[in-house]
Amino acid sequence: MLPGWSVRESVPRVVYSYCIGRASLPPILKTRTMATYTLEQLAEAKTLPCTRCKGTGIRERIIDREAGVDIPARPCVACDGLQTFNAPDVTYLLGLIKGRKSGTLRSRRPENPRAYYVWRFARFHGGQDVTLPMQASFEVMGDPFIPLLDAIAERVAQTVYGTDLAGSLRWAHAMGHEVSDAYMRGEILPPSAMPGGPVVMDGNKPYSEQAELV
Ligand SMILES: [Zn+2]
Repeated sequence: MLPGWSVRESVPRVVYSYCIGRASLPPILKTRTMATYTLEQLAEAKTLPCTRCKGTGIRERIIDREAGVDIPARPCVACDGLQTFNAPDVTYLLGLIKGRKSGTLRSRRPENPRAYYVWRFARFHGGQDVTLPMQASFEVMGDPFIPLLDAIAERVAQTVYGTDLAGSLRWAHAMGHEVSDAYMRGEILPPSAMPGGPVVMDGNKPYSEQAELV
């Protein structure tokens, strides 16, 4: 699906998009791009600590005497108390998201949370579904490799849909940021990137994402 592509080669372009291209995104997408590691470090790492519990594996005890709340310490829900995440197998993930015809994505969401994240953000960046990918973000909570998954999703969007800017531009414009004249004339991107255009270009929105349409 992505012949000849390596994470390392795409680092400069992705870093650029993080610094500049994504500067005007809504908060939900901004927080997920706050990188602790560079993409190069992520591509090299075998295992990294959970970002939710900072690698302790424990959700701290919560005490609020006035409210009568005392919840004992318990395993972190993001890593199931395992403390770390293993590096993603990129080839495996790409195998889980590809469609039957070459150069396409499967129509149903993959079950694997990381594959689902890449599939969903590729649809977002490519303009196939420009509603905010809240469910997919939720399912990879605590995963320190998220920026790497983002880089893969951008690359998949370019390959499959010919752009990785549709979702960002739709939201940037909606938030009142300046966009180019060519964009406003509808010359460069799918209709879903345009104000007032469709938000989903196909019928493949999973039922579990219906809240994103509200
Ligand atoms: Zn954790």
